[in-house]
Amino acid sequence: MTLGGARQQLDLDVLGRQMYACIEELYPLCRSITGDGVRETLRRIGRHFPLTLHEVPTGVPVFDWTVPNEWNIRDAWVKSGSGERVVDFRKSNLHVVSYSVPVRARMALAELKERLHSLPESPDRIPYRTSYYRETWGFCLTQRQLDALPDAAYEVCIDSSLVPGSLSYGECYLPGETADEVLVSCHICHPSLANDNLAGVAVATFLGEILSRVSLRCSYRLLFIPGTIGSLTWLSRNEANLHRIKAGLVLTGLGDPGTPTYKKSRRGNAAIDRAATHVLKSHAGARSVEFSPYGYDERQYCSPGFDLPVGCLMRTPHGQYPEYHTSGDNLDFVRPASLADSLAVALDIFHVLEDDKAYLSTNPKGEPQLGRRGLYRAMGGLSDVGAHEMAMLWVLNLSDGRHRLLEIAERSGYPFDVVQRMARMLMEHGLLHEIGSAVSNG
Ligand code: ZN
Repeated sequence: MTLGGARQQLDLDVLGRQMYACIEELYPLCRSITGDGVRETLRRIGRHFPLTLHEVPTGVPVFDWTVPNEWNIRDAWVKSGSGERVVDFRKSNLHVVSYSVPVRARMALAELKERLHSLPESPDRIPYRTSYYRETWGFCLTQRQLDALPDAAYEVCIDSSLVPGSLSYGECYLPGETADEVLVSCHICHPSLANDNLAGVAVATFLGEILSRVSLRCSYRLLFIPGTIGSLTWLSRNEANLHRIKAGLVLTGLGDPGTPTYKKSRRGNAAIDRAATHVLKSHAGARSVEFSPYGYDERQYCSPGFDLPVGCLMRTPHGQYPEYHTSGDNLDFVRPASLADSLAVALDIFHVLEDDKAYLSTNPKGEPQLGRRGLYRAMGGLSDVGAHEMAMLWVLNLSDGRHRLLEIAERSGYPFDVVQRMARMLMEHGLLHEIGSAVSNG
């Protein structure tokens, strides 16, 4: 079955609930850019389709960066004089600054406060903080927790390790008829955050599961990687094959209640940019925005030395919702319906990439007589032409071998699906034949 065919048979309500369950399962794991939380996450994703786990040792240079030490954490707390855990890693892994070095100390509140991070403007939320490339330690807590700490001595413990190990990432290659590759990339380095991280992971996981069951024209490569250092590591190990990538999507923030946003690749007019913009046009509230050198791993894929045709699919952009990078980005914030809608949008975009073919009219001199073939309404003289007939005329007119279906859809204003259906019908009547099908580079 083709991707377009499979897409029509999907039960999106069921898939939305399954993706939500996937997020619930992965939510408690303490992920970071390296460590056992990432490995366990990858192991669980690998139950859905064949995922290869790669390990790259600490110290390996990747462009201007180096694979860092591996971080693992078992427990962490701040205890009051009575031995009560006033900040407790077991309650939320956001309580510890990610990549904190191990510490065991006693200190007064004033000294401890220099290590505490809170959000005065959101007093009930724990902030998410990291310190990957500077060795330090710290705790994050709600402003209310902080305000409630009496001026006394505290015992602090971070039972972590930051030592040479490796960086882990997951990769799945699904071969299609052609070597043209579509890259799907998501970051797996955030701990208990549901939208920024896990929603993208869940959508990518179910995309992988669906793509692995259908026959594909393009080949697909799914990457589950730690942000920045993971994409840089993958790029440095695969530089010789990057020319195969004809399109790509970074998936992130796909479960919040907002509407879809597509951020274009640096090229701005690549096949993926045109396909995504076209799909989102018929989606209420959705929008395409221009490239900017900030955001997620598209920053690396679209750096000038690579300039890959990779865009970013999300819902509300990062930083534009108050729950972003706080404990407010939790299981209540993501919705099965948003996840299902995001999956549908991604599949619709890939469907366009899969089926964007050029056709040649077998009857280019004048219009073929459609009525005789039962393709045109019997009654003449009506003032408006039906939508399907109009789409059919567009397909016939532009099928000179130089225009593909997406271009016909863009120019005619009809959805890709309708244009494709018309092309198929005209083929069945011998009025078109298919030529060329490689992914265009815009
Ligand atoms: Zn983030």
